[in-house]
Amino acid sequence: PESLSPSKGPLAGMVAIVTGGASGIGAAVARRLHADGAQIAVLDRDTSGADAAFAAFTADVSDRASVDEAVAAVAERFGRIDIVVNNAGIGAQGDIAANDDDEWARVLSINVTGIARVTAAALPWLRRSPAASVCNTASIASTTGLPQRALYSASKGAVSALTRAMAADHLREGIRVNAVNPGTADTPWVGRLLDSASDPAAERAALEARQPHGRLVSPDEVAAAVAYLVSPASGSTTGTFIEVDGGMAQLR
Ligand code: NAD
Repeated sequence: PESLSPSKGPLAGMVAIVTGGASGIGAAVARRLHADGAQIAVLDRDTSGADAAFAAFTADVSDRASVDEAVAAVAERFGRIDIVVNNAGIGAQGDIAANDDDEWARVLSINVTGIARVTAAALPWLRRSPAASVCNTASIASTTGLPQRALYSASKGAVSALTRAMAADHLREGIRVNAVNPGTADTPWVGRLLDSASDPAAERAALEARQPHGRLVSPDEVAAAVAYLVSPASGSTTGTFIEVDGGMAQLR
């Protein structure tokens, strides 16, 4: 169909994998990169929410065999991979004592090792791309001490360090690696957290009031930063981060 092969825009002719692309920030990234001309492969463990205009591949980023199979299927379908947006991630609440070893291992495997699995599987294709780029979704938790987010913060701090290490390893191969640090964004994830409160509307108002700009970050704002970082316009930029947090990181 027409929508699977756009031909205009800064990403025309390119193929982008978006992990976690069936919901929230990832879905906004998929829409934006498609609008910028890329063909989109959504990789998600639950593709039911994925935009029907995009090719969807069911994969769990914490399972290497499933990742290898899905990335191979993307390459077979499109014949190339130029962009990987590592956005799939899960949350974890509480201090260091709140989660057992299995939960630590599970969250780190999805949020951190998942990036390595997906990108490593795509590397042979990225090496062949004339404009290869990777963008990881980190978080304000990467750079800021958030209360009751110990495991989540550890995972996102690791995403930042991994972003720099990947940028260093692959810069001579022409593969750029950057990241975005979103603040609290208006996604189904945050919606679920709010819904679990006794008064979701009051909780949302309080959450908005805690943001420096008085509102939640829009997934489209995060997607715009990702679109810049994976586009030729940022061709001299690697190993860097864009904060999309209303200024929250400046206040702490
Ligand atoms: P979301 O829950 O709305 O979407 C996440 C998507 O990732 C879902 O479609 C889910 O199925 C998929 N996913 C989860 N685990 C997976 C796995 N093991 N394998 C494959 N897919 C998997 O969440 P969101 O709010 O859009 O968050 C997306 C990313 O942004 C996450 O990495 C999150 O840590 C990060 N982030 C979110 C916020 C926020 O406030 N929403 C802030 C900072 C960073």
